[in-house]
Amino acid sequence: MKPHDGMYIDGAWRPAAGTGTITVLNPVDERPVGEVPAGDAQDVDAAVRAARAALPSWSATPPAERAALIGALRDRLVARKDEIAETVTAELGSPLAFSEAVHAGVPILVSGSYAELAATHAFEERVGNSTVYLEPIGVVGAITPWNYPLHQIVNKVAPALAAGCTVVLKPAEDTPLTAQLFAEAAHEAGIPAGVFNLVTGLGPVAGQALAEHEGVDLVSFTGSTAVGKRIGATAGAAVKRVALELGGKSANVILPSADLAKAVNVGVANVMSNSGQTCSAWTRMLVHTDRYDEAVELAAAAAAKYGPRIGPVVNAKQQARVRGYIEKGVEEGARIVAGGPESPQEQGYYVQPTVFADVTPEMTIAQEEIFGPVVSLIRYEDEEDALRIANGTVYGLAGAVWAADDAEAIAFARRMDTGQVDINGGSFNPLAPFGGYKQSGVGRELGAHGLAEYLQTKSLQF
Ligand code: NAP
Ligand code: MG
Repeated sequence: MKPHDGMYIDGAWRPAAGTGTITVLNPVDERPVGEVPAGDAQDVDAAVRAARAALPSWSATPPAERAALIGALRDRLVARKDEIAETVTAELGSPLAFSEAVHAGVPILVSGSYAELAATHAFEERVGNSTVYLEPIGVVGAITPWNYPLHQIVNKVAPALAAGCTVVLKPAEDTPLTAQLFAEAAHEAGIPAGVFNLVTGLGPVAGQALAEHEGVDLVSFTGSTAVGKRIGATAGAAVKRVALELGGKSANVILPSADLAKAVNVGVANVMSNSGQTCSAWTRMLVHTDRYDEAVELAAAAAAKYGPRIGPVVNAKQQARVRGYIEKGVEEGARIVAGGPESPQEQGYYVQPTVFADVTPEMTIAQEEIFGPVVSLIRYEDEEDALRIANGTVYGLAGAVWAADDAEAIAFARRMDTGQVDINGGSFNPLAPFGGYKQSGVGRELGAHGLAEYLQTKSLQF
C-alpha cells in the first residue's frame, strides 16, 4: 500500500489542514517506511462535522443493512490480510507469522462477530409497560495505540458502526499506515461517506482536539494511564461518555497443584508475545514458595529460547523505557536470571527477553506496567498470600490461574479483582467482554458487552 498524503474525511482522501508530517520508522532497522500528514484541530473539526452529518441516516439504517456492510468490511480485511500483516510488521516490527495470525487474524474474527451481532442484537425490549429502545450514542471519537494497531481500531469501530454510531479515528503516530489501510477497506466495503473518518496526527494535537471536541458524544480511548486520566477528566467536565482501556499488571497465579512446567512455559510465552507490548500480559508470575526455585529455572530456560524469535519494541522511547525498568529492578534488589538491560544488537529497538527472580510485591517492576518482554517471578506462602499479591496493584485487567482441576482455579479466579482470567490456559474468546477493574479502565470491548457501550436507552411507556 502507498501511504496517503491526506485525511480520509466524508468518504474521500482530502488534503490536510495541518502542515506537519509524521515519518513512520521500521523498528527492526530504524529506517523510514512511509510518511503521513499530521492533522490538527481543523482536520479533526472537519472530520467530526462529517461524522455528525452522516449520523441521522446511518443511525436510521436498519441493523441488518449495517450488518451487511460490516460483513463487507470483514471481507475486505480478509482479501487484504497479507497486506495488513506486512504493514503491521513494517511499522510495529512484529515477526510476520505473528502479524498474520494475530494482527490480521483477530480483527477479521472481531469484525465478523460484529457483522453477526449487528444483525441479531435486540435493539429494543419490552419491560413491564415500557418498550426500551437501544439507540446509538452518536459521534464517537476513537483514539488508539500502536501495540495491536488494527485490533485496537476494529475493537472500537466495528461495535460503533454496529450500534449505528459514526466515528472519527485518531490512530497512534507510530502505526498510521495500518489505519490508512483500514480506511481503504472501509471505503471499498461501501461504508457510506462520513460514517467512518480518519485523522492521522499527534496525540497532544489531533488526539486532544478530538477528545475535547463538542461534537463528539463518546470518547473511546486505549493507551497509557496518564493520558487516559486526562481524557476521563475532560469528558467528565463536558458530561460526555468515555470508555478507557488503560493497561495492567496482570497476575499469573500458579497454584501448588498445577502442572508447573506447562504453567510457566505458557506464562513466559504470554509475556514475550508481541515483545511484551500487550496490556493484558501476565507480567507477574506468582509461584508457591516450595516450587519457586524450580519455576525460576523453567522460566529462565523458556525465555532464553525466545531470544532470537521476538521482535523489537515499537520505538526508541519504549526501548529506553523498558531498559530503564530492567535497571530499576536490579537497583531494587531483584535478580536477573535471563536477559538484562543491554541491547541484544546495535540496530533496531530490541530488548532482551528478561526474567526477574526474587521480586517482592512492592517493587516498581511488580507494580508498574513495563510494556516490554519482562516477567517478574514473585513467591507466595499460601493461597491468601497469593490472592493479596494478585490483587495488590492499582490495575485489574486480566490474569491466569493454574491448578490440577478447573474448579479449584475458578474458585480462586472469582476472588481476583480483574476483568478477565484464563483458567488452565483457556483460549482467547473474541465474544468475551474485555476491560478493566480498578485503574485498568472504564467500559468493556468485544462481543455484546462491547456493543452495549455504544448504545443508550430510551424508555417509552404504553
Ligand atoms: P499514549 O501516549 O497514551 O498513546 C495512546 C494514544 O493516545 C495514541 O493515539 C496517542 O497519540 C494518543 N495521545 C497521546 N497524548 C494524547 C493527548 N494528550 N490527548 C489525546 N490523545 C493523546 O501511549 P504511548 O505513549 O504510546 O505508550 C506509553 C505507555 O502506555 C506504554 O509504555 C504502556 O504502558 C501504555 N500503553 C498501553 C496500551 C494499552 O493497550 N492499554 C497501549 C499502548 C501503550 P500518539 O501516538 O501521537 O502519542
Ligand atoms: Mg505517546
